[in-house]
Amino acid sequence: MELVEINIAGRVHSVRPCPFCGGSDLLPGLWSLENGEEDSIECSTCLAGAPLTAWLKPNVSDEAAA
Ligand SMILES: [Zn+2]
Repeated sequence: MELVEINIAGRVHSVRPCPFCGGSDLLPGLWSLENGEEDSIECSTCLAGAPLTAWLKPNVSDEAAA
């Protein structure tokens, strides 16, 4: 899988493409939580978004393929 480099708050992360549409046009954002804000990633293709920590978490199908 080709990883996408994205600069979030001055740090470059290599992340997987959008798990929903496979898009690699990702945007950094902020996710509002009850106890503050967290860096997040948004997909500019399908507008899905997730906190960075969740986006980086491997999903079950990736583990099965590894
Ligand atoms: Zn998407």
